[in-house]
Amino acid sequence: MTPKINQFLKSQQPATPFLVVDLDVVQENYRQIDTGLGADIYYAVKANPAPAILECLVKLGSKFDAASINEIQMCLDVGAKPSDISFGNTLKKPSAIEAAYNLGVDLFVFDSEGDLDNIAKYAPGAKVYCRLLAENGSAEWPLSRKFGCDVEMAFDLMMSVKTKGLIPFGLSFHVGSQQPDPHQWNWAIEDAAKVFAQLKNQGVELEMLNMGGGFPVQYRGPIDPFEHFVEAIEASLLKHFGEGNIPALMIEPGRAIVAEAGVMVSEVVLISQKRKDAPRRWVYLDVGMFGGLAETMDEAIKYNITTPHDGGPVGAVAIAGPTCDGVDILYENAPYELPLALKAGDRVIVEAAGAYTSTYASQSFNGFEPLAEYYI
Ligand SMILES: *Cc1c(COP(=O)(O)O)cnc(C)c1O
Repeated sequence: MTPKINQFLKSQQPATPFLVVDLDVVQENYRQIDTGLGADIYYAVKANPAPAILECLVKLGSKFDAASINEIQMCLDVGAKPSDISFGNTLKKPSAIEAAYNLGVDLFVFDSEGDLDNIAKYAPGAKVYCRLLAENGSAEWPLSRKFGCDVEMAFDLMMSVKTKGLIPFGLSFHVGSQQPDPHQWNWAIEDAAKVFAQLKNQGVELEMLNMGGGFPVQYRGPIDPFEHFVEAIEASLLKHFGEGNIPALMIEPGRAIVAEAGVMVSEVVLISQKRKDAPRRWVYLDVGMFGGLAETMDEAIKYNITTPHDGGPVGAVAIAGPTCDGVDILYENAPYELPLALKAGDRVIVEAAGAYTSTYASQSFNGFEPLAEYYI
């Protein structure tokens, strides 16, 4: 928790649940990542598209990875240049491609012939990059299987790009979000280098490698420092592309820029036991799976939760949200313990909650308002 957030929480008591994000931390995170790999940073807008964050990043010189026309428009609204926006979703309707192109966006991802043909038709002359399937092994929030194509298909599709009237620009991959292992980038870089070389043999010279996002943040367990990721990735690039042959680089961090900049504040609604001698209590918060903590699905992301009673004796708990849906359980299997003194009405803090929360909150399932947000 930053001093600024601490001060905000002391001086203001907004109704819970809410998210409060310290923009200074967004800036620090951006700067740290920017000094790392010598890659152009395309912030993954989906992680948190709040105008205050996008505005802060535009000022820092960030570029943007957008997934839809609305995300593109949000970037433009805060002053991003269309040439600094990548349409990074492999799933887009022709109408979205056309609208993006008309707004001046000229960089598009694809992973299939169908999408490539649509780009050729609705964004003639655009630069395109092909997304490779990547192993998402060990990622805590994997993205695999759904996105990307294998290296042979990437080669074949890239060979057809010029004849379709587009510019063969590069390749991309994503090793899975909250990827704790710095060496997981290696396999995808190896694959990409192969396709670069095969295409070069056929006279198609790609310029750019987009290494996606995935850089982890600290939730409950420790993570490797960012420098370890930089070292591992640089070593892989040297090994597979060779000195002097490394292409221009893009990365698309989302979580690593915003997660640790924010906390969510929630009120304990009820604490109960299912039977007298039950080994654990059930703690019900006023925010859950549908209020912004969607990444607790399958208990994938394990948020650190602090309470006003920390330091006192603790006991095992299951933690759930406030709705009448049975899946609205945050943690039932992960071993969570909370203070025995915790009681209904206490405010608890969900740490590192700045990414993948605000826009994951439902409109008003069960009548609960979407998550309130404060950017300070
Ligand atoms: C979600 C996403 C990102 C951001 O991933 P993080 O793990 O949050 O850094 C980057 N690129 C693409 C294509 C994505 O879908």
